[in-house]
Formats: sequence, C-alpha cells, structure tokens
Amino acid sequence: MNPTPEGGRLEGRRALVTGGASGIGAACARELAARGAYVTVADVDGDDAKAVAEEVGGEAWVVDLSDTRALDGLELDTDVLVNNAGIQRVSAIQDFVPDDFRLVHRIMLEAPFLLVRAALPRMYERGWGRVVNISSVHGLVASPFKSAYVSAKHGLEGLSKVTALEGGERGVTSVCVNPGYVRTPLVEQQVAEQARAYGIAESEVLAQVMLGQAAVKRLVEPYEVAALVGWLTGPEAAMVSGASWTIDGGWSAR
Ligand code: NAD
Repeated sequence: MNPTPEGGRLEGRRALVTGGASGIGAACARELAARGAYVTVADVDGDDAKAVAEEVGGEAWVVDLSDTRALDGLELDTDVLVNNAGIQRVSAIQDFVPDDFRLVHRIMLEAPFLLVRAALPRMYERGWGRVVNISSVHGLVASPFKSAYVSAKHGLEGLSKVTALEGGERGVTSVCVNPGYVRTPLVEQQVAEQARAYGIAESEVLAQVMLGQAAVKRLVEPYEVAALVGWLTGPEAAMVSGASWTIDGGWSAR
C-alpha cells in the first residue's frame, strides 16, 4: 500500500511563511502554494510581501518581527508555520554593537518562539501541525564574527526540539532545516560584510570562506531548500520531528 496516499498535498491547509518576501522564504511560499496551501506571506517588506502573496494566491501580513512585544498576545490560525525571517550582523565580539545582537535575537529566536506559541493552540485543536524552522549550518557549527547569528540559530535548534517534544502526542511535528550558503540577498550582503571583516576581496570570500570546504562548489538555490521544506510538511515526514536537516552541498561534512 502506498504509505502516502495524500501525496504530500496541502489542500485546505493554511501556511504562514515569515520572511516570505525574499530568498528562501519566497521559494517556500511558492512551494507550499504549489502543494495546495493558502499561504500568508509575513514580512516587514510590504511591497515584496504583497507581490509574492499575489503570485501565490495568498495574502500578505506586513509585520516587523523585531517588535516582539507586539507578538506577545498573538493568536495564529495556521497548519504550517515556517519560521524563516532573518538578518545577519557580522563583527568581532568586542566590537559587536549590543543592540545589533539583541535585534538578531529578537527576529530569529524570540519571534519564532512567539509565533510557535501563537500557533500551537489551533494546531493542537486540529491534532495536526507542522513547524519548520529555517536554521542554518550555523545552528550546528560556529563561525567567527557571527556571535549573534550563531547563538540565535543554536537557540532555534533548542526551541525546535522542545516544540517537537511538547507537540508529538498532539499531531504537531517540529524540525529545523539547516542550509549552507544559499543564493539570496542575505548572502550577497554577507559576502560584502565578510570581505570587510576578513580584509579580503569579495570573490575570495565566496571561493574560500563560503565554498572552500563544500563538496559541491556552488551556492544552494532557494528552491532546493523549499523542496525540502515542502517534503517536511507532507505525510511522508510524519515521523520526522525534533531533527535537523542539513542541505549544504557537503559543507559540514569536512
Ligand atoms: P533574505 O534576506 O533574502 O530574506 C529574509 C527576509 O526576512 C526578507 O524578506 C526580510 O524582509 C525579512 N525580514 C528581515 N527582518 C524582518 C523583520 N524584522 N520582520 C519581518 N521580516 C523580516 O534572506 P534569506 O537568505 O532568504 O534567509 C532566510 C532565512 O534563511 C534566514 O533565517 C537565514 O538565516 C536562513 N539562512 C540563509 C542562508 C543563506 O545562505 N542565504 C543560509 C542558511 C540559513
């Protein structure tokens, strides 16, 4: 018997993708919509969020996820939650601006916590929910000059596991997806910032710092991450919970 009779479809399901206006999030919005979900594209960038929402036949939620107090009492009605919004700040610890550290943590750890908190009651009522946290290889290993990002992503790994443990008996799974370097605006910004931090050319950052240790010497494409996210929301992945899924062209194998 085919163990996945629904074929990974999401008809009648609602999905919320944070940071859905760009890069990996936009690719996830397209993937989940293609699987039949009604997608809410949540992003601080209203114009791009509306454009992606229109493209996928969903809706935009223009929200600044760094304003975490505003999310305290939130109630969300969604079957799939993709915590994806993120920023990067690169600096040696002794020079790291404290408010930059806090900003990274608010967007990439506090907001995911508050959104999961807001979504779980309805997921529990229905007895079905999928939480996918877009972490990073830097949720599993460290990198110099990225203290805020690395620590927020490591925290997200922990949040994801606790969500899995609390939700497992109530039909809710929670996973992390851990991309290596993906071709998005965030990486373009990182290349420039790391070139300054290391004092080397941008081409060297790409060739040595980013892809030097990878087995497959190219950036990951956003749709490749989104395909994995789509699969993780499907019935084939019902037993995949509390785990972290690396997609990095072998970057972390070395
Ligand atoms: P991106 O810059 O293309 O997209 C990030 C989105 O998040 C943007 O649309 C941005 O407007 C939104 N966002 C930022 N701050 C926000 C806020 N305060 N409120 C609401 N929305 C906000 O970046 P991306 O590369 O697609 O990254 C998406 C996620 O993937 C991030 O969590 C990032 O850490 C993770 N990631 C990216 C890579 C990579 O190489 N690009 C690798 C590993 C993990």
